[in-house]
Amino acid sequence: MRAITIQPSVPNSTQLQDVPDPPRHEGAILVDTLALGVCGTDHEIVAGHYGEAPPGHERLVLGHESLGRVREAPKDSGFAIGDHIVGIVRQRDPVPCPACAAGEWDMCRNGQYTEHGIKGLNGFGAERFRIDPDYAVKVDKALGILGVLLEPTSVVAKAWDHTDRLWRLKAMPPKRLLVTGAVRPLPATDADRDRR
Ligand SMILES: [Zn+2]
Repeated sequence: MRAITIQPSVPNSTQLQDVPDPPRHEGAILVDTLALGVCGTDHEIVAGHYGEAPPGHERLVLGHESLGRVREAPKDSGFAIGDHIVGIVRQRDPVPCPACAAGEWDMCRNGQYTEHGIKGLNGFGAERFRIDPDYAVKVDKALGILGVLLEPTSVVAKAWDHTDRLWRLKAMPPKRLLVTGAVRPLPATDADRDRR
């Protein structure tokens, strides 16, 4: 099958490659990819600033914003052939730390988590991928290709949920909010310079 791969730490190493089908140990659900989103993290990985191939491999299959259609699923998995799913990007660390043990792997404390298409796990930028039922989210087929926006939307929803919880916890609601993120400014273009 075809897959978009990169060699971590090597700028602009992106290739459309023929790779073996995903092995069974990568998850009980086999999925046909319908759409793939691209974000700033992908940009950084392609530029060689970030990314980690699976253990024992030189290259990483790129892509973490997914939408796919189930091709094979065990009967007791909660998923059926034809279901539309989105893969959860991050997986708990193997130790696990207290956060991962509680199912809050977004808050992993020891940094040993893995992430599809980013850190130590192949991504969804391939014709097919496999995923564990615990890390698959069913989406309404009526959404069509817009289902690919579920992952980035979940980031916003989580930020809002945390903001809301902090707000409720305080006897006196906080009056200031700092929004921060590890965003690296892109180099200025000629058009930017002309505008100055
Ligand atoms: Zn952890």
